[in-house]
Amino acid sequence: NVRVRFAPSPTGPLHIGGVRTALFNYLFAKKNNGTFILRIEDTDQTRYVANAEQYIIDALNWCNIPYDEGPNKNEKFGPYRQSERKELYKKYAEELISKGKAYYAFDTAEQLDFHRKDHEEKGKTFIYNWHNRAKLTNSISLTKEEVDKRIANGDKYVVRFKMYDPNEETETIESNDIIRGHVSFKKEILDDKILFKSDGMPTYHLANIVDDHLMEISHVIRGEEWLPSLPLHIALYQAFGWQAPEFAHLPLILKPVGKGKLSKRDGDKLGFPVFPLEYKNSVTNEISSGYKEEGYFPETVVNFLALLGWNPGTEQELFTLEELVQSFDLSRVNKSGARFDPDKTKWFNQQYMMKKSDAELAELYTPILTKKGILKESSFIVKVVSLIKERATFVSDFWDLSNFFFEAPIEYDSKASKKNWKEDTAGLMKELILVLEKIEDFNSQNIENNVKEWITSKEIGFGKIMQPFRLSLVGAMKGPHLFDIAEMIGKEETIIRITKAIE
Ligand code: GLU
Repeated sequence: NVRVRFAPSPTGPLHIGGVRTALFNYLFAKKNNGTFILRIEDTDQTRYVANAEQYIIDALNWCNIPYDEGPNKNEKFGPYRQSERKELYKKYAEELISKGKAYYAFDTAEQLDFHRKDHEEKGKTFIYNWHNRAKLTNSISLTKEEVDKRIANGDKYVVRFKMYDPNEETETIESNDIIRGHVSFKKEILDDKILFKSDGMPTYHLANIVDDHLMEISHVIRGEEWLPSLPLHIALYQAFGWQAPEFAHLPLILKPVGKGKLSKRDGDKLGFPVFPLEYKNSVTNEISSGYKEEGYFPETVVNFLALLGWNPGTEQELFTLEELVQSFDLSRVNKSGARFDPDKTKWFNQQYMMKKSDAELAELYTPILTKKGILKESSFIVKVVSLIKERATFVSDFWDLSNFFFEAPIEYDSKASKKNWKEDTAGLMKELILVLEKIEDFNSQNIENNVKEWITSKEIGFGKIMQPFRLSLVGAMKGPHLFDIAEMIGKEETIIRITKAIE
């Protein structure tokens, strides 16, 4: 029974790296008829951001990878917000203490600081571990009575995990990662991590393990940055006597150029979003752009994210979500980092543009037109879209590619005018109007036949007519087949535009 979870901390907008983690969990769940769970890990109150949870949910929904179980949905293992489960964790921290696997520590910040500095002076680093825990007078060496007295007294404490005990335990922690294979960690170099804080909140580590256990998570699929936490997590499962889930740590997403992890700064520098949806920071009011608002299709985002770290083993690059579910396999996820390529994301969007029906694209274009005060019947917009979509990467490119279908040019490209509007052009355009007026069925093919016949009979170059004709209708030397444009705007408007250009 496959049960996987995406467990973001609501500390800000979800980065596309987070969306990729969610996607891989989703694909793995669907491939195995399993359940995809959303759990909000909000135990760090100092970093909590109020609108982040809704942002995460909106982002998953926009990508069409909704969760099956989570906040306000199928809450059989709920609640799914850790802040609403805090009573629970205390009990588990106490369980570890009674088993001798964890202990209270009352060290103050000043005391810890002192140890750190003291070590530094001797050229060493202070690590709270088996080496020195017994020497720290405020922790493991305290008797039960002393501990009780201090707690009753309101002294601040934390609960620490007893990571390693040279007398009774194995020296290494062994585990298996689905992507990385066998992994082994030396216990003696690991520290006694804090599990529970005196503010009544667990740390990420305790809450994460307890919840994965209680929510019956079968596979933990998460970013590589959590690999260093794996030995602690395994040790916690052992200390509780629980069976650990299987683990898969996904490779980093790397900057487009240079070394290191993809960051928001790379996006700002190179002009691409790193967030799925636009995000407004409620403190600084800074707005970060999102893939959705930049005009990417959700299919594009899902497709390029799937290929960051995973490959199908074939040359296929375009995948629908259903195809991804069919082909996805954790054993085809790479260990090494995946380089992010913003140009490729645009290529994907173009591909999806070509796959979408004209009607679908017209529907996306209509609100843009409405905003400009342009109301046209949908069949007209569909036709326009069919003529221009090949040239577009985003729906937001449509206007520049098609404005002349909706309104006459306000000005004419000066360079093109100079080059194509000669002394005899006005006269020729007047003649062209006469030719056009005579065409009864004003369709593209008819217009083309008549105009070409006339040009041929005059024994002049096609360009002499066609270039100023285009300039009159479009205002520049761009756009699709000219006779298509003429048909679309109609005979009357065509003649009006040429007349206006002559003046
Ligand atoms: N809350 C952690 C995060 O923000 C979850 C890590 C995990 O999946 O275990 O990524």
